[in-house]
Amino acid sequence: MLEKKVETFNMNRVIEDFEEMSRNADQVQIQTLKDILLKNHSAIYLKNFGINGTTTAPEAFKALVPLVTDFELEPYIQRMVDGDTSPILTGRPVPAISLSSGTSQGRPKFVPFTDELMENTIQLFRTAFAFRNREFPIDDNGRALQFIFSSRQYTSTGGVPVGTATTNVYRNPNFKAGMRSIQSLCCSPDEVIFSPDVHQALYCHLLSGILFRDQVQYVFASFAHGLVHAFRTFEQVWEEIVADIKEGVLTSRITVPSVRSAMSKLLRPNPELADMIRTKCLSLSNWYGLIPALFPNAKYVYGIMTGSMEPYVKKLRHYAGELPLVSHDYGSSEGWIAANVTPRLSPEEATFAVVPNLGYFEFLPVSETEKEPVGLTDVKIGEEYEVVITNYAGLYRYKLGDVVRIIGFYNKTPQLKFICRRNLILSINIDKNTERDLQLSVESAAKRLSEEKIEVIDFSSHVDVTTEPGHYVIFWEVSGETEGDVLQDCCNCLDKGFIDAGYMSSRKCKTIGALELRVVERGTFRKVQEHFLGLGSSAGQFKMPRCVKPSNGKVLKILCENAVSRFFSTAFD
Ligand code: AMP
Repeated sequence: MLEKKVETFNMNRVIEDFEEMSRNADQVQIQTLKDILLKNHSAIYLKNFGINGTTTAPEAFKALVPLVTDFELEPYIQRMVDGDTSPILTGRPVPAISLSSGTSQGRPKFVPFTDELMENTIQLFRTAFAFRNREFPIDDNGRALQFIFSSRQYTSTGGVPVGTATTNVYRNPNFKAGMRSIQSLCCSPDEVIFSPDVHQALYCHLLSGILFRDQVQYVFASFAHGLVHAFRTFEQVWEEIVADIKEGVLTSRITVPSVRSAMSKLLRPNPELADMIRTKCLSLSNWYGLIPALFPNAKYVYGIMTGSMEPYVKKLRHYAGELPLVSHDYGSSEGWIAANVTPRLSPEEATFAVVPNLGYFEFLPVSETEKEPVGLTDVKIGEEYEVVITNYAGLYRYKLGDVVRIIGFYNKTPQLKFICRRNLILSINIDKNTERDLQLSVESAAKRLSEEKIEVIDFSSHVDVTTEPGHYVIFWEVSGETEGDVLQDCCNCLDKGFIDAGYMSSRKCKTIGALELRVVERGTFRKVQEHFLGLGSSAGQFKMPRCVKPSNGKVLKILCENAVSRFFSTAFD
């Protein structure tokens, strides 16, 4: 891929471009679809449906090409992975394949990655940055402490590079220039980002951040989970970091030669800085306000905090103290969708404005009566839809599996709120519970635990149908010891927390058994994460699977083997 010169950043111009595009969202959509179809007119997939380079209008396209999921596209993508360079989904062979985190399905899935997706990424970053910078301007020579990790990229037997989408982005020659243009250069050397060992990389990100502490303008991880994990780790390793700074010598725990050598170049003995960090750490109460204490010039903390990341917001707020939490944009390995153009909104209120030239977007109503998707500018405020993407990277009318709610319009383009993954995760008979329902139930039960000053560190669930009747199992990792009575209350609360009518009636008539709470040993969820990292998921892109299917035996085994206590609900006795 050729390295392109990334344009110098002009905040007002970027904002004006977005304003104009959003004012003409309907026209931009028609033009974007036309571009996509012309660019990929030779794709076998499109030809099979009778799209031949002259069909570019939305109505004709929709009449010919069916709605699909990753399941239907899998054989096409597999051919690309296997090295077939004929135009399968895209007009030209793709330079790489992305491995989406796939934790919801229990296995990673492949999606095409193209130069256009990289351009979209840079465009999205610039748009979001422009709006952010208008609200929270950062200094010219600033840097960003970015907890980013490039996982392994390997070459498939067919010769195609395969890596997570974030890896494909970080390895792209335009990434660094793009980051520099928006004053977001990372503190850490590249060797840290590309470290084969994520634990060592995290330590070095923290250390680099402190070495550049005065320049750090904001702190970022793709997902709130990553931010919380980083600062929980800091609580454990801070004394080692302080010792490294004092002596100017890197701890022996960093063994990857490239990382050691790059980090050693940054270090020189600095006892004043070491003492200052020590004093700051010791002065904090339960680490409240850790982020501004370490990075006095940081203006905000940035990452995805919506959807399945909501459970981490409370802890993140604790670390961030008074610093604003700014929600990162909305996208997926399949492509970017929407930017946060209202960065002052809290994570609970955050909405995202669809960027109309990133793809051709349709919205499939979630309500069971309506079956036909509507166009971008035809969505209705207050309604919920599943997002359907057609993009430059060979996805045509692809159901993403995400449910969003329309909150309003920014000019003509919708502003949406991420609601949840569409898949029901907990269902035994007539009960229907989504990831969001589980989250709400856990949130309400966790309140009982917080009265004891204990938090839920992480959670997951499982439908156990080996018992008669089947029942829900919720796994919890908690931050401290507590009485069995408290956990029994939590268990009852979890059971009562699922307010879906199907669940409640099944519980009342005992066609679903008592909910079971299993408390797992500290560190168990870290083991689950490591299992997924071993499968090729990247630390930065990781999302905890909120429901473990029986097919995911390994994760279920980790959770079950590490259970230290179990409780059965008496809420419906
Ligand atoms: P991946 O497949 O690993 O690229 O993950 C993409 C998925 O992460 C999306 O399909 C969403 O379910 C979720 N996601 C991405 N952005 C957001 C966001 N801003 N808020 C909530 N969930 C998000």
